[in-house]
Amino acid sequence: MTTRVRFAPSPTGYLHIGSARTALFNYLFAKHTGGKFLLRIEDTDLARSTSESTRSILEGLEWLGFAPDETIVYQSNNADQHRAAALKLLAESKAYLDFTPKEDRTGGDVKTSIQEKARANKNQRDNEFRDLSKEESDQKAAAGEPFAIRLKVAETGKTTFEDAVYGLQERDYTEIEDLVLLRSDGHPLYNLAVVCDDIEMQITHVIRGQDHLTNAHKQVLIYEALGANKPIFAHLPLILAPNKGKLSKRKHGAVVSMTTYRDAGFLAAAFRNFLVLLGWSAGEEKEIYTFDELIEKFSLDHIHKNNAVFNFDANDAKHWTDDKAIWMNAEYVRTMPIAELIPFVKAELKSAKLWRDEYEDDDKTWFENTVDLIRQRFFTLKDFSGQGRAYFSEDFDFDQAAIDKNLKKFPDLKIWLTELANRFEAVEDFTHDEIERIVKEITEEKQTKMGVIMNGARALLTGLAVGPSMLTVFETLGKEKTGRRLKSQIAWNL
Ligand code: GLU
Repeated sequence: MTTRVRFAPSPTGYLHIGSARTALFNYLFAKHTGGKFLLRIEDTDLARSTSESTRSILEGLEWLGFAPDETIVYQSNNADQHRAAALKLLAESKAYLDFTPKEDRTGGDVKTSIQEKARANKNQRDNEFRDLSKEESDQKAAAGEPFAIRLKVAETGKTTFEDAVYGLQERDYTEIEDLVLLRSDGHPLYNLAVVCDDIEMQITHVIRGQDHLTNAHKQVLIYEALGANKPIFAHLPLILAPNKGKLSKRKHGAVVSMTTYRDAGFLAAAFRNFLVLLGWSAGEEKEIYTFDELIEKFSLDHIHKNNAVFNFDANDAKHWTDDKAIWMNAEYVRTMPIAELIPFVKAELKSAKLWRDEYEDDDKTWFENTVDLIRQRFFTLKDFSGQGRAYFSEDFDFDQAAIDKNLKKFPDLKIWLTELANRFEAVEDFTHDEIERIVKEITEEKQTKMGVIMNGARALLTGLAVGPSMLTVFETLGKEKTGRRLKSQIAWNL
């Protein structure tokens, strides 16, 4: 049997972290089992669905690299099939027409309706239209009385299914109301639509958030009524907010949106690696995996039951998102094969107007070496145009603290660094060894410490207090730029 799974977002907002994790687990499971990953946009809630949201979800999925294996299904296109299924159940007396006036009808929320019934001391199955004869029912409908179609849940028994993550699930029928399949305006409701589409798409495994466990019981009833095989369900632990509350798009905003990470210079590969660990582990110390390794290792039985926590502090810019996401991204920036990183750096420099075509041509080696040198301290792709700007442009910012601490505190540096520049400019070959010799020479002559010379030069050359080894920085920037920047007075006047 070829496995077929689907990711089924409702387009009522951007692609958020919980949905992205659901998509990832579905994708990995499909690829691990040699099956198909499908995408269904559940756009039946006309009041809340927007095409803008669909676009944003597709963009998020594209960034993460989860391309569906078949044409995208839009649930609203299948409404006729959903209605036909409800009518079939009606014809088979597995459903009935409910003529209760709309305002008296209980909604879809089982808990509330059970509580309401308990309060009113009423039975779940006391709907007066449940056992109406077919003739009576048809007559009322023919007379134009509005009706909803409800599933006729048996009086006694229970639904059972084996969840691949949470094990055996059971629910007594008394806890499930006769759920509405079709509203009086003919609009198919959520659970019916999901089951019909999953049958139609031949879905073998339904992998989705644990918040759908309650729906799963209702869906099992619909599968049984339709005489269809139910899929294997695998419900995923939730991803909670730092206070262990619900993580919500509305409350937590951009920090849970995928496009935020794309725009903040995260690598999709790193973010996927971060995401996979929210609710899954291979049962080993290792945490960094290539995508191929994840595909090879992923299995449903290593999904955690406990909820994961997404840690961040909205009031602290340094911890605006989970530290682990930032750490993971830095790991990828530092260690991924340079040839794989270069296209991302190119895109970043292009968007910051710092890109030069020579970087792919005459200066290719210089560019690769420079990227390799500076990436060691970077966290995101944005750092290449931010902290790394001095390597690609003359127009870079000076960090005032670096200027004060490493330059202005040593006024003699004004003369010393000019001398250093002159001696650099006088050498024929601006090599590592020559540079080192000259720096040592000046340090001894001026009876100072090498660190004073190096830190001052770093502030002038890069605007920063920290960075790669200065001997390499001099060499990387070259004789001319180094000389010019060492003599420049701009920083001294800040
Ligand atoms: N559309 C539902 C959601 O976005 C998912 C339904 C499902 O996976 O069965 O939460």
